[in-house]
Amino acid sequence: MERTLSLIKPDGVAKNIIGEVIKRFETAGIKVVAMKKLHLSQKQAEGFYAVHKERPFFKSLTEFMTSGPIVAMVLEGEDVIAKNRKLMGATNFKNAEEGTIRRDYATDIEKNVVHGSDAPETAAFEIAYFFSMMEIVG
Ligand code: GDP
Repeated sequence: MERTLSLIKPDGVAKNIIGEVIKRFETAGIKVVAMKKLHLSQKQAEGFYAVHKERPFFKSLTEFMTSGPIVAMVLEGEDVIAKNRKLMGATNFKNAEEGTIRRDYATDIEKNVVHGSDAPETAAFEIAYFFSMMEIVG
């Protein structure tokens, strides 16, 4: 069993598709073992995306991520890091496969509805960024 962090970004929450995203996880056999809705501060968004701080889109990305509430979830399942990335689709929705969340709902490369950890090390950091051990109920 593996765990990963999933975020429904402000554009996804604004589109009222929280349930639709969760339905796709559950249909794929993925279990939601923790969940909360929150509104990130600029500092919290910068800490979460620290690996991207030298990228030209860092300021824009962190401002977008603080523009409205998000939903954070811990997902659990076999190979869930890769499975979630597959359900999400490519970063740029124009390159995302048919039937993926980003292909169906993203509007640009930045406003791409969902985040998902990309490796076990990032998953561990990102889960701990949002959740304490007691908030994760497997
Ligand atoms: P992900 O793992 O698919 O989310 O992609 P990355 O880790 O490469 O980038 C993190 C997030 O930054 C993406 O999900 C987008 O929201 C945003 N992003 C990535 N590339 C660009 C870009 O070229 N321009 C802008 N404005 N945002 C980007």
